[in-house]
Amino acid sequence: MRAVRGNVPCGFWRLRSRFGALSLSPVIRFRTLGILGRRATALAAALLPLPALATDAETEKAFIMGLPKAELHVHLEGTMEPELYLAIAQRNGIFTPYATGEDVRDRLRAAHDLPSFIVIYEELIGAAQTAQDFHDIALAYFRKAHSQGVVYAEVYFDPQLHLERGVPLETLYAGLAAAQRDAREELGLEAHYILSFLRDRSAADAAHVLEASRPWIGDLVIGVGLDNPEVKDFPAKFEEVFERAGALGLHRTSHCDVDQADTIANHWGVIEKLKVERIDHGLNVPDDPALVAAVRARGIGLTGAPTLFYTEIPGRMAYRAGRIRQLLDLGLLVSVNSDDPGMKRSLYVGDLMERVQEETGMSRDDIVRLARNSFAIAWIDEAERAAYLGRIDRYLADREPT
Ligand SMILES: [Zn+2]
Repeated sequence: MRAVRGNVPCGFWRLRSRFGALSLSPVIRFRTLGILGRRATALAAALLPLPALATDAETEKAFIMGLPKAELHVHLEGTMEPELYLAIAQRNGIFTPYATGEDVRDRLRAAHDLPSFIVIYEELIGAAQTAQDFHDIALAYFRKAHSQGVVYAEVYFDPQLHLERGVPLETLYAGLAAAQRDAREELGLEAHYILSFLRDRSAADAAHVLEASRPWIGDLVIGVGLDNPEVKDFPAKFEEVFERAGALGLHRTSHCDVDQADTIANHWGVIEKLKVERIDHGLNVPDDPALVAAVRARGIGLTGAPTLFYTEIPGRMAYRAGRIRQLLDLGLLVSVNSDDPGMKRSLYVGDLMERVQEETGMSRDDIVRLARNSFAIAWIDEAERAAYLGRIDRYLADREPT
């Protein structure tokens, strides 16, 4: 059960007063009419606290879900839900040993860290072959995200993963472009994509895929990133490719996963060598006061993610949520993100913001700051940023007590 916080939601008070008015009037009416007398009064009194308690958590959840927010750290491939995987595999005539979505989830329960997850991730995404498949994966994600208040998204994708198994870039990009268009038309959700290089593949391969993707740079692909398991000195490895990406007008971000070897050096490396505007995760920033100061001074965004696997890892949520809160309390531009929601417990941004709040006792103001941060560090122009922040302002104004 959620603890009552210092900053009590204004909608909560409105509901309380509304239920108070509703629950008192029958008591007065019963007394006046003398129909049921004391027993009715006792019954009504016994029922009084229940609606208020029941609606506290629901009201807070509804507030978080409806709050306009941006998703900046989510992997297209990892958004694929087990049922969609099965549908795509069947459509493409691909053999799968799994009969049901639950069977796929059982397989995903074998993942307990990034390397073990990547094996299953690559196995499942192997089902996606056509532009329609990539479209369906992306649009399913956009619909789900939209239902949780996401109005803007920058979505990572791994072109090398698909090129390696013979899927042409034209097929991949056709699917991504169609989903972008449908998200705009159907949902009013604006989406762009982040071309991600795999850290455990060569820099030459990354350079090749960057050049081959040039026709789609612009409205579709707006940035580059780095994901997959960390390798030694990865910032130096990709320095040249990132410089080229910058020259092509692309934004730059990189994962710095949580509690990895040489993580502080790698955080410095992505800032100084790769010139990133954001760090994905970045939860180790508080471990180095100089890093905190540099991230603050340069306005670098931190796309935090609890990244919960189907298999429960004791203490993981508390640790990561605590780190997100710590970054927020340090005044850094941290946001909450869903990473690989389809393949990791089906938790999307709204779900995760709610979990982070529960875990850390964040106030509603804190949650709003997380949402504002997501737009502050999005790769949009200042007019767009002002418009999105204005949507948050209007959302809050609509919920002010009258
Ligand atoms: Zn990630």
